[in-house]
Amino acid sequence: MFKKILIANRGEIACRVMETARKLGVKTVAVYSDADANAKHVAMADEAYRIGPAPVSDSYLQIAKIIEVCKQSGAEAVHPGYGFLSENPDFVDALDAAGITFIGPSADAIRAMGLKDAAKALMEKAGVPVVPGYHRETQDPGFLQIQAGKIGYPVLIKARAGGGGKGMRKVERAEDFISALKSAQREGEASFGDGRVLIEKYVAKPRHIEIQVFGDNHGNAVHLFERDCSLQRRHQKVIEEAPAPDMPEEMRTAMGEAAVKAAKAINYSGAGTIEFIVDVSEGLRADRFYFMEMNTRLQVEHPVTELITGQDLVEWQLRVASGEPLPKAQEELSINGWAFEARLYAEDAPKGFLPAIGTLEHLVLPETQARVDSGVRAGDEISPFYDPMIAKVIVHGPSRDAALGKLLASLEATEVAGCVTNAGFLAALCRHEGFANGDVDTGLIDRDLESLIAEPEMPEDAIALAALTALGLTRPAEGNDPFDTLAGWRIWSASRQFALLEIASERRDVEVHAQGQNKFTVHLESGPKDFTLVEVDGSTITYDSNGHRASGSVVHDGKGLTVFMSGHAFTVGLPDALSSDEEAAGAGDQLIAPMPGLVKMLNAKAGDAVTKDQPLIILEAMKMEHTLKAPRDGVIGEVMVNEGEQVTDGTILLVLAEEADAAA
Ligand code: ADP
Ligand code: ADP
Ligand code: MG
Repeated sequence: MFKKILIANRGEIACRVMETARKLGVKTVAVYSDADANAKHVAMADEAYRIGPAPVSDSYLQIAKIIEVCKQSGAEAVHPGYGFLSENPDFVDALDAAGITFIGPSADAIRAMGLKDAAKALMEKAGVPVVPGYHRETQDPGFLQIQAGKIGYPVLIKARAGGGGKGMRKVERAEDFISALKSAQREGEASFGDGRVLIEKYVAKPRHIEIQVFGDNHGNAVHLFERDCSLQRRHQKVIEEAPAPDMPEEMRTAMGEAAVKAAKAINYSGAGTIEFIVDVSEGLRADRFYFMEMNTRLQVEHPVTELITGQDLVEWQLRVASGEPLPKAQEELSINGWAFEARLYAEDAPKGFLPAIGTLEHLVLPETQARVDSGVRAGDEISPFYDPMIAKVIVHGPSRDAALGKLLASLEATEVAGCVTNAGFLAALCRHEGFANGDVDTGLIDRDLESLIAEPEMPEDAIALAALTALGLTRPAEGNDPFDTLAGWRIWSASRQFALLEIASERRDVEVHAQGQNKFTVHLESGPKDFTLVEVDGSTITYDSNGHRASGSVVHDGKGLTVFMSGHAFTVGLPDALSSDEEAAGAGDQLIAPMPGLVKMLNAKAGDAVTKDQPLIILEAMKMEHTLKAPRDGVIGEVMVNEGEQVTDGTILLVLAEEADAAA
């Protein structure tokens, strides 16, 4: 076993790898960018070295600097995590040349699987079923369109160097082919420096089922069963599980064998995943799975496999890379129970899942209910430089129902303030009837998107807690006993006050009447309601109302309040009483950059008549394209940006003419 390894990554995966290294008595070396100087992975490592400024191309992708740090620190091997350099064969070659071990497959194996088109050709030869389509050299748009016609619509255009769901476009009709092709090429070029594509038949009612494989340097290869990653949005995984619901044993065997065959075809060593797309239009059938791609690294969702097999896959990686044979043979591996993983991201689901940034002013992760793999702590920042993942929430139970119940409870116990998250969306998915029944396919989220992102109405109790907090009535004064020292009773007894709150873009003036003894009457829409504060413990407020004892958590994050109650988070603005409502009213007339990004495409000029939701601007941010749509019907008054311009968040991109002007 190695004595010291370097982890060429950041965030949760760097921390995850260090956990196992520590368990095995292996010393760890972290690298960090300026943006990560105070990050969790730096604090966790035995040693840490700065490798450059925040942008990944100047830091985490700097091969020469990472090798230099290996030499400086005496690290014998490098774990690449996922993303960054994990599937870069030139990195592996450079490490080899420096006499440093890469914890992963050979450069040749990565090259063989690195491009989706070449990988498919190779798998076809090895006798693994692949998705029907075009995966050869010629890239002439007219020729590709003819190929798409031959395959038969709908088709899927994929950047051959793609990953993370980027550079893919589904095309339903021939007339949309060329513009979709251009957009896929653009995204492929921007994200991977390779605009070439392949075309696949779009599989009807698809499920994404992948097989975890492992090889060693002694010619052995095994699989660790399947993961179902069908819950996706924009081809990105949202919730993963293992095993796959309703998987027939015969199909599990066939897929496992095909995956091992694929791994053996390239003398694979280390952890890898063979991703298959499964046509479930007639249920799960052993002759309806097709190879899509191989990821030659540890997968984001590897923990669900760890929980059902009881194996530590990072430990396997370290053992195999240091020359040991695979820890277990195929017949020694079995499935125990059920596991789920949900990816908690800083993103705004109701606003088209825009990645969000901000400081995690308040962070409660469900560590007692679940395994939480996270690379951030309270007070850390989600910056625009990296993947906005906050944590992976991973649960295990004896049955699918039990595990899913645990996942929901864990998500409901999650509290994040200071940054919008997809926690509410993930919880809504857990409550989705089809998902609960195991009736999953990659279209599930899109079909039911509206109900999945619907924001529940804020309960009156939550409004009351927000009002009391806004007025400073829940803050314990000096002294330890909140019963005696709650400000409302001490200072404001018998007074009448109004809390000005902004809830779901509407202003509410909430009247509060202090009655003494921590008792308040709050005037709500349904009428006056009494609340007695029982305990205030940090942000958690326990109260009694009409003989019903309950609690909620209220966090003040500088911008406003976030109230956590019954598994939901509600944000409440604290508007300045003197500012007018007009600003808010004008917002519908502007298109504002929701995040820093590059104006990739501008489909509007002054004087154009537009209809609500018409796509006007494509903003590229975090290597993804985001379409910004017209906020209402109207006429474009002024466009304030140009194509190719870099904008900061909050920039006004264009304004619609006022209704009266437009009519004139
Ligand atoms: P896996 O196949 O291991 O589940 P994915 O295919 O989802 O991982 O993602 C592959 C890479 O894309 C990962 O390295 C991850 O960091 C990155 N990625 C995934 N989701 C996002 C996202 N929402 N934004 C930016 N990068 C992402
Ligand atoms: P990436 O490298 O971005 O992960 P993949 O080729 O693995 O790209 O595809 C990502 C997702 O897109 C799959 O998980 C699946 O949901 C969907 N997908 C890919 N190929 C097809 C196809 N031929 N038909 C239908 N859906 C597909
Ligand atoms: Mg994939």
